Amino acid sequence: MLDEEQVEEVFRRLSEAMPGRIRCAKGPKGQPDAFRSCIACMLSAQSLDRNTAAATKALFKLARTPRAMLKLDEPTIAAAIKPAGLYNMKARNIRAFCAALLERHGDVVPDTREGLMALPGIGRKCADIVLQFTFGTDTIAVDTHVHRVCNRIGLTSAKTADRTAEQLEARAPEWAFHEGHFWLIQLGKRVCKARSPQCPRCPVNDLCEFAAPLRA
Ligand code: SF4
Repeated sequence: MLDEEQVEEVFRRLSEAMPGRIRCAKGPKGQPDAFRSCIACMLSAQSLDRNTAAATKALFKLARTPRAMLKLDEPTIAAAIKPAGLYNMKARNIRAFCAALLERHGDVVPDTREGLMALPGIGRKCADIVLQFTFGTDTIAVDTHVHRVCNRIGLTSAKTADRTAEQLEARAPEWAFHEGHFWLIQLGKRVCKARSPQCPRCPVNDLCEFAAPLRA
C-alpha cells in the first residue's frame, strides 16, 4: 500500500483533475428524502442504473412513506421492483426495513452510520451514501468504482468494498472526505475503467501500484 504522503498526493492530484461534489451530486438515484434514498439504495444492489430507476419509479408510484409501503404485500412490491432484479429478496428487505424504521425511529431515518446499518437491508455502502447525499456528512462512500480504483492505486488493500471503506476512513486525509467519493468515482468511470484502465493518461500513474510494471 502507498504511504501516508503518497496517499495525500493521490488525493491532491485527483482534487485537481476530477470533478467534485457540486458539479455531479444528484443524491442516491435523485431521491429527495432519506427514506426514499434508503429504498433506492436497496434497489440498486446488483442492478444497472436504468433498471434501478425504473423499479424506484414504479414502487414510489404505489407508496412513498414507510406506513404506506407496509400496506403493500410482498408480491405487490416484488412485481413493482422486478426490473431491479433479486426482487423477492429486495421486497422482503423493504418491508422489514419499513417495519423496523417505524418501530425503532417512528419513521424518521437515523442520521448515523450505526443507526442506519442496524436497519434491515442497509449495509455500509447504502449507509454511507445516505449519510453523504442526504445528511451532508463527510464520508467516502465506496461503490464498485471506488473499491476498484482504491485497490488498484494502493490507497487500500482490501477484498471487499466494506473493508475498503474502513481502510479509506483510516488512511485518507481529512480534507478529502468532503469530495473524495466524487473524485474516485469519476476516476473509475472516466480513466480507471474496469476492463481497460487508461494508465498513460491517468493523473496518478507514477504513484499507482497497478501501473508499476508499466514504469519498469
Ligand atoms: S494508473 Fe492505471 S490502474 Fe492506476 S489508477 Fe490510473 S488508470 Fe487506474
